Amino acid sequence: LAFCRSLPKIELHAHLNGSVRESTLQELAGEQLKLGGAKTLPECFKLFDAIHRCTTIHERIQRIAREAAEDFAADNVVYLELRTSPKVHLEHGVTKRSYVDAVLAGLAEYQAACSAVGQTGATVRLLLSIDRREDAAAALATVELAAELMPRGVAGIDLSGNPAAGELATWLPALRRARSLGLALTLHAAEVFNPGETAAMLDFAPERLGHMCCLDARLEAQLAASRIPIELCLTSNLLSGSVTRLPDHHFAALHRAGHPVCLCTDDCGIYGTSLSRELALAGACFDLSPAALARLCRDAAGYAFLPADERAALQAREAARAA
Ligand code: 5GP
Repeated sequence: LAFCRSLPKIELHAHLNGSVRESTLQELAGEQLKLGGAKTLPECFKLFDAIHRCTTIHERIQRIAREAAEDFAADNVVYLELRTSPKVHLEHGVTKRSYVDAVLAGLAEYQAACSAVGQTGATVRLLLSIDRREDAAAALATVELAAELMPRGVAGIDLSGNPAAGELATWLPALRRARSLGLALTLHAAEVFNPGETAAMLDFAPERLGHMCCLDARLEAQLAASRIPIELCLTSNLLSGSVTRLPDHHFAALHRAGHPVCLCTDDCGIYGTSLSRELALAGACFDLSPAALARLCRDAAGYAFLPADERAALQAREAARAA
């Protein structure tokens, strides 16, 4: 674990409200909300709703965004893509726009605190998530907001939320619009076995995919041919039951086959993990050498949602740090 902590890391799949600090959640929610332990996917989505009920005002949204940046940076994450679905709580004056403004204010607060002590801090980009409960118009509103906020650090669009909810066809127009506006795309895919949707997602060819746990041989072949990088979250998949045993996790086969993958935390608050811990787990479970773990971090830099020149600079920094 100490070696993994020392590695400069790249986190590409972290949900803001799932990354909430446990002590903060307890302060905001009281004792009744407990994180940690195994939860099925449906239980996780109930927990997300409970967390969301505690983070409905701008000050709290700003706070959890700042703390998430601080916590990833403390784990030696040098580049972070944080994702969140913009929410509307009109009773608290929160619109999608003001929600994202609060998140960006939290990230700016983190950067300002780093500058004040002469540090650069982690580079943070924001992805806006379309929640699968949303309709076509709400998805489009998120995409238009993301496009408007690109100059302030919004880099892409994610599709997430309960995989039992909704249909891809609902969000495809918004996803196509995002692509036309120059936003990078990542989709949660195959968390449950849904071969028609997963094949359609692969056909759509987003820049990255998340999870890809439940595939048949045909989808495995389609994925292998696509070379689309996959964000893999070991602890999350294990605790939520998408995989039954870590040694059976599809990381092993994908990594062996040389498919582009990156290790990520998903919801480090809910699952009580960190990116260092995920790397250490992978090292122990799949017998990866320190050099192989360092290579995973370097390779992840190549999948960042950054303009080509900034991505190349991040990769060069990773390579220099490893040398
Ligand atoms: P938020 O977008 O509210 O900042 O982060 C929590 C939300 O991210 C959840 O309500 C859910 O929509 C999404 N999310 C977090 N973890 C997962 C996951 O493992 N799978 C899926 N499909 N969605 C997730």
